[in-house]
Amino acid sequence: MKQYPFETTITHKKVKNGRIRIGPDSRVYVTVPHGADAEDLIDSRMNWIKKKIAELDRLASEYGAGEDGTFIYNGMMWHPVYSDKTPVSFSWPDVLYPSVETLKKAVVKELKADIGKRLDHYSGKMGVEYGRISVRNQKTRWGSCSGKGNLNFNIRAMALAENTRNYLVVHELAHRLEMNHSPAFWKTVSMYYPGYREAEKELKAYWILTGRSRIWNALLNSGDR
Ligand SMILES: [Zn+2]
Repeated sequence: MKQYPFETTITHKKVKNGRIRIGPDSRVYVTVPHGADAEDLIDSRMNWIKKKIAELDRLASEYGAGEDGTFIYNGMMWHPVYSDKTPVSFSWPDVLYPSVETLKKAVVKELKADIGKRLDHYSGKMGVEYGRISVRNQKTRWGSCSGKGNLNFNIRAMALAENTRNYLVVHELAHRLEMNHSPAFWKTVSMYYPGYREAEKELKAYWILTGRSRIWNALLNSGDR
């Protein structure tokens, strides 16, 4: 194996073409067909990989990620403090929690209530209906909307600032009108959330922030969700 200036995880799978994904921690995930050479793929995409990693590092430093031990929640930096008292208490800048599992439950509960309020508001405005709401720990997305209108939101959404959560809700509800990312879809989004381009950037940055945060990682990896 060659030495690269980044960490790699190589998986051989029954796929037709190789692919490369960069994790929020700048780790490079390479999937190649059985018998194929991962190094060839890495070498051929080297410039792209380096550019992507530089972009992730820039975003992370811009938002002050990597400051060990901070917990980003509701768009603010919190200081997690262990406490044997329940329930979890948020009194900025401190969040007192007895265990990661308890913290996770509190975050999921808050997100469900918070998203529910925003869905009510925007579905009325947009004239759309929706089905069930669930909160999941999806590996690659902030949210999704099924053909039947059931909505999924990533537990990480509670890290976002309120405005960006509004955008997420508008985005998923807009899929009730357009099940794609066509120009018509973005036009709908822009009617209810004009600053959507900025919000997309925020989503990207927060994905990295949560991905690099020790406590978010512990939370995302805990339990069965
Ligand atoms: Zn979408």
